[in-house]
Amino acid sequence: MPTEPALDEDIATARGTSGVPMIEFDSVVKKFGDNVVLDHLDFKVAAGDRVTLIGPSGSGKTTILRLLMTLEKVDGGVIRVKGEPLSHEKKGDRLVPASERHLRAMRRSIGMVFQQFNLFPNMNVMENLTEAPIHVLGRKKSEAQERARELLATVGLSDKETAHPTQLSGGQQQRVAIARALAMDPDILLLDEVTSALDPELVADVLDVLRTIAETTDITMLIVTHEMNFARDVSNRVLMFDQGRIVEEGTPEHIFTNPEQERTRRFLDAII
Ligand code: ADP
Repeated sequence: MPTEPALDEDIATARGTSGVPMIEFDSVVKKFGDNVVLDHLDFKVAAGDRVTLIGPSGSGKTTILRLLMTLEKVDGGVIRVKGEPLSHEKKGDRLVPASERHLRAMRRSIGMVFQQFNLFPNMNVMENLTEAPIHVLGRKKSEAQERARELLATVGLSDKETAHPTQLSGGQQQRVAIARALAMDPDILLLDEVTSALDPELVADVLDVLRTIAETTDITMLIVTHEMNFARDVSNRVLMFDQGRIVEEGTPEHIFTNPEQERTRRFLDAII
């Protein structure tokens, strides 16, 4: 019997998994040598949340995203995605360090867009968008291309299917990178300073695309940005970091108009 889409939600509710945070940092410690970058960090992100991480350079924001992408390993504590530990997996009732297979499976639910666009330089736009869906998710080429075309329309680049990255502006490359991350249908989108490498006149188009995605999907977003207007528009929560700790958190309204902590005020005064 075909499964009704709604049934999945019913099953999730019955199992109680619908209330599980999408992302959970549980007493996470990360060090580089003697430098303790994250010091027993705790926070949770619910499914569909749009959370912006702000704070001075070096406060650990990028490290949080890199840990989620499994580009770095924790030195203590646990990161969970949809309730599953990222760096460990269950063997019977024991937790053991994650195998490469487990890491690959966990990574699949997370898409990341970096400051530098990191497109495959030898592939055209369509190939950039379909490579992983075909080879990692096992999608049919025609299906992957259909989805890629939808996404290119979303990011306003339908006429660039056959262009190579070097033929595109930085803003266009970044929009392709966003479409490429979405082509994997991730539950979570990580955005790391996605406009900082762009000429100022190209920033607005990229932010508009991200606003549209925020408005039209329920994807969970974790955003590191210095674009405070964008953070205010798109996110429902802001976490202010300093030296690997959350010094204040709240709605954008609270953080940007009425911060309680002197540290937050000083940071915002310096960048706005
Ligand atoms: P932010 O994104 O808030 O600017 P980062 O997460 O990039 O901060 O960096 C936090 C701290 O970790 C900084 O002190 C930085 O120098 C250090 N760090 C980050 N990555 C590495 C690395 N690969 N090796 C050594 N130190 C690192």
